[in-house]
Amino acid sequence: MAESAEQVHARVMAAADENGRVPLPSVASWDIFPWEVVDGELAPKRLADPAPERVREGEGGVDCSLCGADQPGVIWTNDRWRLKHLRERSGLPLVLMLEPVAHLDLPDLDDAMAAEHGVLAVRIARIVEGLPNVARCHVQRVGDGAEHLHTWLMARTAGLPSILGSFAVDWDDILPPGPEDVWRADIAAVATALASYDGRAVGLDD
Ligand SMILES: [Zn+2]
Repeated sequence: MAESAEQVHARVMAAADENGRVPLPSVASWDIFPWEVVDGELAPKRLADPAPERVREGEGGVDCSLCGADQPGVIWTNDRWRLKHLRERSGLPLVLMLEPVAHLDLPDLDDAMAAEHGVLAVRIARIVEGLPNVARCHVQRVGDGAEHLHTWLMARTAGLPSILGSFAVDWDDILPPGPEDVWRADIAAVATALASYDGRAVGLDD
């Protein structure tokens, strides 16, 4: 069972400084982070000059780290799709990725694969939102990092008003990870529930 809002809050406060703040995550130093402090005030960064699109990882199926049978973190699979957890725990209670086994981006899916993608996203969201203490499962495809489709499914804790909307993604980087046994139990519960529809749950990757 995922931690309650009170459990998350107490754990984060125990890790925070005297002002209740945890350290700035590394994402704040990324070039694409849109905010900076100017003369003591938070301000949007200057819009960078136009430039050629960067080459995404695995573009054209070359050197794609999401292709191949030995993918780390797989918790469920069928012949065409797999569900993975991240390599390491993060700030939100559960962050999963749904990927096609074949090297396909979202626009590459034919109608049958597109329908399966939709059905799986709904099933996973239903299962994750059914976990105790989870309010929402955010579903998003961004696709700027890697060409191989990887749809994010991100659970947020119920009753933590700071963690709402698209900023839940930021809090995933900000908050210290929760207990490993809780995380693994929730992952196993999701994999087992998804396998009750189709496919098979896979042993947790250590
Ligand atoms: Zn690929």
